[in-house]
Amino acid sequence: MTERLPDPSDVASAVEEKQRELSIQAHLNRPIETPLKIDGVRVCKSCEEIIPHERLQALPLSVRCVYCQNDFDNLNMHKA
Ligand SMILES: [Zn+2]
Repeated sequence: MTERLPDPSDVASAVEEKQRELSIQAHLNRPIETPLKIDGVRVCKSCEEIIPHERLQALPLSVRCVYCQNDFDNLNMHKA
């Protein structure tokens, strides 16, 4: 038996990442924020850098880049 199924951990990590963010979102009870757009391009609400397309595809509700979102979540968690 030489054939192997694809490594499930490859698939799982992408799903986990998404679920982790969703659970943070639920945990913080974060209101859905209005995305900031400059010239029709979604940008980070904190640093105004363009949010990568892949991030928006994975997390359409993202309003910040991954770095600012981490900072934001950390701040909120410490507050709570
Ligand atoms: Zn940012």
